[in-house]
Parts: sequence; C-alpha cells; structure tokens
Amino acid sequence: MKRTLITGLDIWKRKGPFWPVKLIARASLNTLHHLPRGMMVEATQRCTGNCRGCKPTINPVDLKPELLSAWLGCRPCKPVTLHFSGKHSDPLAAPELSRLVAIAGQNSSMVSVSTIGLGFQPGHEGLKVDRWIFSLPAATGPSWEAIRGRDRMAEVLLAVRTVKSAGKSMVELVLTVWRQSASDLDAFRELAGNMRADSAKAVFGRFDPEGFHVGRTENLELDSQGCPYRLDGTGSPELKREPAGCPLAGCLFLDAEGVLRPCPFTGDDAPFERTPSTGAWKTARGWKALKNGRPFSACRYCW
Ligand code: SF4
Ligand code: SF4
Repeated sequence: MKRTLITGLDIWKRKGPFWPVKLIARASLNTLHHLPRGMMVEATQRCTGNCRGCKPTINPVDLKPELLSAWLGCRPCKPVTLHFSGKHSDPLAAPELSRLVAIAGQNSSMVSVSTIGLGFQPGHEGLKVDRWIFSLPAATGPSWEAIRGRDRMAEVLLAVRTVKSAGKSMVELVLTVWRQSASDLDAFRELAGNMRADSAKAVFGRFDPEGFHVGRTENLELDSQGCPYRLDGTGSPELKREPAGCPLAGCLFLDAEGVLRPCPFTGDDAPFERTPSTGAWKTARGWKALKNGRPFSACRYCW
C-alpha cells in the first residue's frame, strides 16, 4: 500500500494536476466493464541475462507493436497500468521496446518496465516510462557470481544511474533473495541509498517448477523463516501457507506471441485468446474468478 502511494505521488508530480482524475475515471470504467485494471506485457522471448543453467528459448519471438496496438484498440476501455515484464525473458532485449512503450503510454495511465537491467542501451533512459523496476539477484559481486555464474552488477548499476540521472522516471530496486545472496540485505540497503532509488525492497526468490530458471530448489533461501517455501516429504518445495488468492488477479497477460492469457504462468491448460477482438476481452472478464478459484496446486508458479 505504502509503495503504491509513493509511486502514485511521484507520478502525479510528473504528470500534472489532472492525472489522478483521469486515473480514477479509467479505474471506474474498468470496474464497470468488469475488466482487471492492469496488463502485463511480454515484449520479447529473448533475455540478456545469459545466466548459468538457463536454457534460452529456441527461435525467440518479439511482440509486434501492431499486435499490442490491435489488442489495446479493441479493449472496451483502456487499462490503468501497463507493465512490461519478462517470463523467461527481459524487456530490454526487445528490438521494438521504444515503439511498444510509446503505444503503452498512449493507452494507459502508468507504464512500468521490470528488468534485470542487463542490455541497457543508450536512449532507453529517454523512453516514456513512469517506473523502472530493476531486479537484482544479489547486492555484492561475490554473491552475484555465485547465483548467476558471472558478476555483472556494475552493468546494472550503470543502467540504474543512467535512468536516475535522466530524471524522467521513478526507480525501484528489488533484491531477490536467494540462498547465495541471503546475507546481502545490509549491502542492498546501502546500495539503494547510494543509487538514490525512489523505493527499495527485498523479496524471496520464487520457485520455478519448469526448472530452467534461477528459481531451482537448490537456490531457494529455505533456511530463512520468512521464506514462503519448505520442502515436502519428496524434497520438492511447497508453500508454507496457502495464499489468500491469485496474486495477479488484478491483471491479464499478453505474451510475446500476442496471445492473451490469465497470467504469465498459466499454459494452454488454462483459457487463452489468440485474436484481438472485443469479444476476446469480454471472455477474459471471467478469468479473474477462474484464477481465484484455481487450486494453487494447479498453478505452476504460485502454488
Ligand atoms: S535465468 Fe532469468 S535472467 Fe537469467 S538468462 Fe534465464 S531468463 Fe534471463
Ligand atoms: S499461476 Fe495461478 S496463482 Fe499464480 S498468478 Fe497465475 S493464475 Fe494466479
């Protein structure tokens, strides 16, 4: 809640006095149309991470700006937030990121980009992004090397500094705590201060049942009390507590192939829509109940 408030106030300062009025009007329209207010968009299937143990996608696809336009153009009302994020990918690897961000800006009240910060190109800092979220796997060089196989912290920090210096967007730093970076919390706080981050938080790394991401069992910080996972009788991670509902109930996901899905982690066992149309959005209205009613054991990430 505090984080949302800080973000809102920061963006209000940048967007002028009428921004909250438009935002409230847009949020109300989404409620009237029974649509989630947020959209997550995968800009590409490529990734700039090259992490040890991660298999890159063969023949990766990039989201066509025309497809994003088509989906947003037939939506019964504009979404409030549009968030570019990766699944096993990163938005900075998208060749058409600047066009995608421009379309997002014309069709929503707030645009954010969540990235690992690698592959940052000159000019990215000038994109009309309201909030950059940089996810760090560690806050010291040795921990970074231990988790990702190579210390690339300096590259990410250069990207953070460049965005901060441009002064156009707010910058959020997120430390994902893995077993290898469990003792980096103090270093992270210091780093966030040095970078003048607008906000900073630490979260525990998520288990990835697909097994080719960093979120493999051996990387989870299972020794910490706050870690949401424990091992079950077979040695597989399980949630200590059943979540109250789907954490992404308030948004839908458009993947890099232009397929509308309930969330980044559901596959073809869940409903999806391939062709942009108003009817597709109307069908997607029903997905919130489906997501909240789905047993977590049926969800590959959040179970
Ligand atoms: S582990 Fe994640 S960040 Fe690293 S290369 Fe794979 S998808 Fe990219
Ligand atoms: S995997 Fe399930 S619980 Fe997690 S965001 Fe998707 S629908 Fe929601």
